[in-house]
Amino acid sequence: MSTTVTPTLSIPFSNTYATLPARFYAGVTPTPVPHPQIIAVNDELATFLGIDPIALRTAEGAAVLAGNRIATGSSPLAQAYAGHQFGHFVPQLGDGRANLLGEVVATDGQRYDIQLKGAGPTPFSRRGDGRASLGPVLREYLLSESMAALGVPTTRALAAVTTGEPVYRDTLQPGAIFTRVASSHLRVGTFQFFAAQQDLEGLRILADYAIARHYPQAAHATQPFRAFLDGVINRQAALVARWMLLGFIHGVMNTDNTSISGETIDYGPCAFMEAYEPAKVYSSIDHRGRYAYSNQPAAMHWNLCRLAETLLPLFVEDGATQDQAMSMAQDSLAAFVPQYEQAFLAGIRRKLGLLTEHKDDAALSNDLLTIMASNQADFTLTFRLLCEAASGSSDQAAARCFRNPGDFLAWSVRWQQRLADEPAPRADLTLAMKQANPAVVPRNHLVQDTIDAAAQHANFSSFHALLQATSRPYADRAGVDPYQVPARPEQCVLQTFCGT
Ligand code: AMP
Ligand code: MG
Repeated sequence: MSTTVTPTLSIPFSNTYATLPARFYAGVTPTPVPHPQIIAVNDELATFLGIDPIALRTAEGAAVLAGNRIATGSSPLAQAYAGHQFGHFVPQLGDGRANLLGEVVATDGQRYDIQLKGAGPTPFSRRGDGRASLGPVLREYLLSESMAALGVPTTRALAAVTTGEPVYRDTLQPGAIFTRVASSHLRVGTFQFFAAQQDLEGLRILADYAIARHYPQAAHATQPFRAFLDGVINRQAALVARWMLLGFIHGVMNTDNTSISGETIDYGPCAFMEAYEPAKVYSSIDHRGRYAYSNQPAAMHWNLCRLAETLLPLFVEDGATQDQAMSMAQDSLAAFVPQYEQAFLAGIRRKLGLLTEHKDDAALSNDLLTIMASNQADFTLTFRLLCEAASGSSDQAAARCFRNPGDFLAWSVRWQQRLADEPAPRADLTLAMKQANPAVVPRNHLVQDTIDAAAQHANFSSFHALLQATSRPYADRAGVDPYQVPARPEQCVLQTFCGT
């Protein structure tokens, strides 16, 4: 006879944010929910964080993931922050529905936040209910894990649970709670919170904390705060380039949704673009296209300007004159565009199989994008099919992505000539291209179908299938694969919603 022992959940919390001054956060415990049930647990991520995934799947684990039980060592809190929302400054936002349970040091030696999203009201909730509905929770789970699998810096999904309690949005929706893991939840808006109050002491404590946690080498620079700013600019330039190279549209690039660590954060009405269109917007609240696909680099630059402004008083405290502080910030910010452009060009070269550099490469890639736009070519599929065309087999499949295939075939002649200059064998180029051009991204209609099945019929099978399909995005897929095929016109998702 065998007896099964239910593993007990132990999370190796080691909290630092909770030791910061009281004005950095509000200590608040999650509000219990009636009937927590696990939708998904990310076993690999749990193990990486030093948490037993089997224990997370027990009733005790579900209770912790729903906020019904406070795990030993947790010091739950809601972080204070401000932010520019669509250009308008709001001096106090803060975690209105998120609860930082604490931090753990993972097997890579780095510190990670574990946060519940949708865990009930906090002092920052304003008129919100502090809750999350199932749809946005599943969307964030799928999109963030997909980005991680694509190799893009991002927050991660540790788990999702349903609460057994409906939430009211436009209609009644099943309630859910998302467990998010991030290098930290520090945002540009966190700096703005202290700057707006002219709380220089708070600002310095925050900057020192951010440096220690994310840019430790900046502490040894002659001007640590300047080095810190340079670091954030550098990572964000690289991050936005990654988004652009994948056709990813964040949708709500407010300063409170812009991380200090350089991770993609706060997946709301985000989407992977289907037909290539530079002005593409999916978000229902982005009426003027502020965060349209092609505006993302400029939007990020604008956000980084706001971060730089908050740091000016620290530059001055450290000995610079006002003028010097200003020109330091401007010099740092001036690096963003060239860094972004360089990262984008290097990335698009990889997408085209160009492992060496040629002065005409930018023109060649721009010309492809131009005909993709005029032919409404599917972004993901076109680039993936280029891998086949580069391998020497026919370029007809890629051409079929274009309304007028002749546009592509004419461009392809130039591209093939350029490829002929590459010293590496075609097989190597194709292999490298496949690592830059995913076969699978979470297509909007599939995400929407998944959400509908879960919210309307409590059916999570397509969620798990899509999660699985997006977990190895660069691998070849057999036959005609439903995850690779663009939406038919009647399946196209025209708008996405943030669902808050
Ligand atoms: P987001 O659009 O998700 O980035 O949220 C912007 C702000 O609104 C943040 O301060 C959130 O905490 C807050 N918020 C969003 N949804 C809710 C909600 N259901 N209840 C309370 N606060 C919310
Ligand atoms: Mg946010």
